[in-house]
Amino acid sequence: MYQKIKPPEEGEKIEYRDGKFIVPDNPIIPFFKGDGIGSDVVPAAIKVLDTAAELIGKTIVWFEIYAGEEAYRIYGTHLPEDTLNAIKEYRVALKGPLTTPVGGGYRSLNVTLRQTLDLYANVRPIYYLKGIPTPVKNPERINFVIFREATEDVYAGIEWPKGSKEALKLIEILEKEFGAKIRRDSGIGIKPISEFATKRLVRMAIRYAIENKRRSVTLVHKGNIMKYTEGAFRDWGYEVAKQEFSDRCITEEELGEKTPDGKIVVKDRIADNMFQQIMLRSEEYDVIVLPNLNGDYLSETAAALVGGVGIAPGSNIGDGIAVFEPVHGSAPKYAGLNKVNPTAQILSGAMMFEYLGWKKASEMIKKAVVMTIEEGTVTYDLHRQIGGKLVGTKEFAEAVIENLRSL
Ligand code: NAP
Repeated sequence: MYQKIKPPEEGEKIEYRDGKFIVPDNPIIPFFKGDGIGSDVVPAAIKVLDTAAELIGKTIVWFEIYAGEEAYRIYGTHLPEDTLNAIKEYRVALKGPLTTPVGGGYRSLNVTLRQTLDLYANVRPIYYLKGIPTPVKNPERINFVIFREATEDVYAGIEWPKGSKEALKLIEILEKEFGAKIRRDSGIGIKPISEFATKRLVRMAIRYAIENKRRSVTLVHKGNIMKYTEGAFRDWGYEVAKQEFSDRCITEEELGEKTPDGKIVVKDRIADNMFQQIMLRSEEYDVIVLPNLNGDYLSETAAALVGGVGIAPGSNIGDGIAVFEPVHGSAPKYAGLNKVNPTAQILSGAMMFEYLGWKKASEMIKKAVVMTIEEGTVTYDLHRQIGGKLVGTKEFAEAVIENLRSL
């Protein structure tokens, strides 16, 4: 089945039955370092994860796979079939960042990965860890989870450059048949948002809210302007809540003075308003669901509220398949310098543990990260804001491991 990689002989596969992962005590988990700083942060994170797993009596059997430049060197392609097959077979994977060329070049590997494996929800928890510098006054009130759609919207990759025969043809059809006015020197991109993709995302978000005792689900959209894509996203979202979860959800409109016990409030907000809402009234938001592009912007802004991209973890989730990754990219200028902060990669691993049902280990990792930062042991990004003892990527991870062992 594999051309250039060999699955480990030890360890067992994670299975998926009746909508749930069945996780052995020694799961095989594929991982790739990716590009740029991936080779700094991924090995550092793996050491921390191994320690946390050991402390709860589990062992991860890592299976190295390849994507990005390293894959290109080995396979002659940036995203080999081997890599996709390993993630499909083993279901849960840890990834480092991947570089994407701007303008021309190959298509985003991250987008291709999400679309090929149908990892339709980009899930990013935004919570504050004590000691981390933040631009907001009450960061401890921030604790929400973003569900961003990841397979469609303007990320669908349906676009043509100015003057191409496809762009000119589309402009002609739109003008002749639909009376639209478009300048002939326009590039053309298409923004599809479907009922199917919206509903499965909202369904996942509401289920998450129920399972994790969250109080509200907010549908964020720009439906006042893009009525049949973003506006429809909102309408389909409410439909899911009303038709499939009426016993657990209540809409903001139906709500009286007080939320009835055990009910989740479903509401919606216009995207631009939402940017100030998460800064000024973050405690009013709990689970936030958005289409792809606005989700991208909002999650990066949200990450900045709790320490920036060096801290923020993320994941790409489908049905019975999940890939965990930091929010940040490959930051090529820092690659191989043992300089950047591995926290986002470490916390992505902690999120993976939570997903596997290893909640205790996940909480221990978060605690150990907080202890390390509170002791003043920090990488350059936090050092320039709060000072302390400046350390490299590896040394930071070692300090986290020491704290983990002391818990
Ligand atoms: P980036 O790689 O996230 O880096 C932007 C800046 O964020 C860095 O210059 C650095 O800030 C800070 N930063 C990032 N990671 C950090 C860490 N671990 N510790 C401390 N600081 C960190 O974003 P980019 O420069 O826009 O993108 C570079 C490449 O990554 C692009 O090819 C992009 O497409 C790709 N990308 C990939 C992913 C992914 O794989 N999921 C996500 C985003 C971007 P300072 O310069 O201020 O120190």
